[in-house]
Amino acid sequence: MKHCGLFVTGTDTDVGKTAVAVAIVRQLVGAGIRVGVYKPVASGVVAGAVNDVDQLWEAADRPLSRERVCPQVFAAPIAPPRAARVAGSIVDERLLCDGFSPWRAASDVVVVEGAGGLFSPLGDTLLNVDLVADLGLPLVIVDAARLGAIGRTLATVQAARARGLSIAAVVLSHTQPLVGSLADPVSDAGIAHDSAGDLAARLAPLPVAVLAHGAALIEPQIDWLAIMEDRL
Ligand SMILES: [Mg+2]
Repeated sequence: MKHCGLFVTGTDTDVGKTAVAVAIVRQLVGAGIRVGVYKPVASGVVAGAVNDVDQLWEAADRPLSRERVCPQVFAAPIAPPRAARVAGSIVDERLLCDGFSPWRAASDVVVVEGAGGLFSPLGDTLLNVDLVADLGLPLVIVDAARLGAIGRTLATVQAARARGLSIAAVVLSHTQPLVGSLADPVSDAGIAHDSAGDLAARLAPLPVAVLAHGAALIEPQIDWLAIMEDRL
């Protein structure tokens, strides 16, 4: 298989990117594919607590090494360049891109999870969107399906397209169990359901899918390999 991959980004921080990345990785691993996982920089990572780096590495069945998954890890739960400064350090911007190379060599598909939203800073000068452009990977845009999902998601999709980036799919990630019934448009469940339907209609033929809270599978299921091969 030719090299391909996906860059999982968000409309904002804390929208459920890691859960979506993990679901994609598990789906691909389940299909017998060698999946690499890369988080260019992570902040808010402290010993003993659940973090993105371990979750990605475990989902992919521990390829290469944990250090390769994320070569730049900082403890403070703030934007990476600020978190680096708190630690008396600086984000190595060249390494953000170079850290991807070992995965390219060792994997059929590499799933990258950005930090924060598409226009959030990764280093002193680079934003997530700049790294996406350098790596040339299609985007999976994640939003949390809270009230405002339509506006946040359309703004991110349009901004990505304005930068000439390719979008593989939009996934609404339920970061907590949804209260209420789908039939009640004012409930969390109704808002999430109606937002997904609205976005699917506005963005067609782009796939718009949902990852329910605690679910293993993104629904409807997306054929990631077919999408990536289309964009090579
Ligand atoms: Mg994450």
